[in-house]
Amino acid sequence: MKTWDFVIIGGGAIGLSLAWRLRHSGAAVLVVEKGEPSREATHAAGGMIAHCDPHNPPELAGMITASACMYPDFIRELREDAFESPDLRDTGTIAFLEESESPTCAGVRPLDETELTPLEPGLKLRGRTFFLPESSVDPRKLGSALEKAARNRGVDFSTGSGVQEIATLGGRAAGVRTAKSFYAAGAVVNCAGAWAAQIKPFGVPTRPVKGQMLCLIPAAKAPHTGPLIRHVVRTPEVYIIPRSDGRIVLGATLEEAGFDKRVDPETVQRLHKAAAAAAPELEHLRIHEAWAGLRPGSPDNLPILGATPMPGYYAATGHYRDGILLAPITALLMTQLLTGQKPKLDLAPFSPKRFE
Ligand SMILES: Cc1cc2nc3c(=O)[nH]c(=O)nc-3n(C[C@H](O)[C@H](O)[C@H](O)COP(=O)(O)OP(=O)(O)OC[C@H]3O[C@@H](n4cnc5c(N)ncnc54)[C@H](O)[C@@H]3O)c2cc1C
Repeated sequence: MKTWDFVIIGGGAIGLSLAWRLRHSGAAVLVVEKGEPSREATHAAGGMIAHCDPHNPPELAGMITASACMYPDFIRELREDAFESPDLRDTGTIAFLEESESPTCAGVRPLDETELTPLEPGLKLRGRTFFLPESSVDPRKLGSALEKAARNRGVDFSTGSGVQEIATLGGRAAGVRTAKSFYAAGAVVNCAGAWAAQIKPFGVPTRPVKGQMLCLIPAAKAPHTGPLIRHVVRTPEVYIIPRSDGRIVLGATLEEAGFDKRVDPETVQRLHKAAAAAAPELEHLRIHEAWAGLRPGSPDNLPILGATPMPGYYAATGHYRDGILLAPITALLMTQLLTGQKPKLDLAPFSPKRFE
């Protein structure tokens, strides 16, 4: 019977990044995915690498800064292994902030009217405005590239049947069981996102936090006038994320609605209106797609990273609003932990054991 060093439960951005990194370290890795890889939160995300967002939890500052710094190399390596690129854009973010909010990362600068207009001519909203040196990535392309890179490097995949329980031997995790099969492993990592709590005999306490988004494209007969918006724009009501192929993504709600992924047309219209209030030309664009996804929240909305109380059973989940941003550092730190090295950042504040 084949045995892997690591079985990763869940093939989203976190599970795939970790599987790919572990494989680079020489480990035999299997990803068990209940559906198709990268079709859940990762598919639904906006893809902002929002390391300057003043709403980021202070406990995560070190990980967030490190991960944002890693992104260009992470994407370069990914391109080498996957032969495709996830549209990393580093044009920066224009953020409209409240008086009480002050971004602190290096390179932030306030923008006055004379700077804002030439930077983003289509933006008519005015207020307390900052330029943030952030980037963005297309999470769907990121997921696809991560899966290809992992497969090309020799990561095995089992798709279409979810892990039901962790198999144990002498009290230690020894593999996973799906409805169809048993997969033996030296260690198991729960990267099942919003579903991580459902794995028996005990899950990792995440909960789904719904987010609705939509995507705009130019109307079929519209003359080609170049990009309407070049920067990511964040206002208190909406964020606007341009992609290199001309699509413009708008988001997002934050809803405690269980596992409900229905899209509400009124909510979609509200987001579209908020974006058009900031940049009026967006009103004439067509809604191409609207969707909802489930962020993996945790009881304190911080990631859950490290060893669980069961020997051989680990967690890497609970990334809530920042899983795309945090994928590179999570993969690195968890690979260091799982291969017996000292993680370069302290994982103790994120230990699964804090919820015991
Ligand atoms: C609307 C929205 C906007 C967002 N915008 C951003 C953003 O701009 N920037 C950012 O950094 N983050 C953003 N996020 C958050 C980000 O998407 C998540 O934090 C990240 O995708 C989590 O990745 P994951 O791999 O943990 O989860 P997921 O991508 O959900 O992957 C988990 C995987 O586990 C699988 N699975 C579940 N149960 C089982 C099982 N029993 N057995 C096998 N497989 C299982 C699922 O099918 C899924 O594929 C956004 C999220 C949403 C919803």
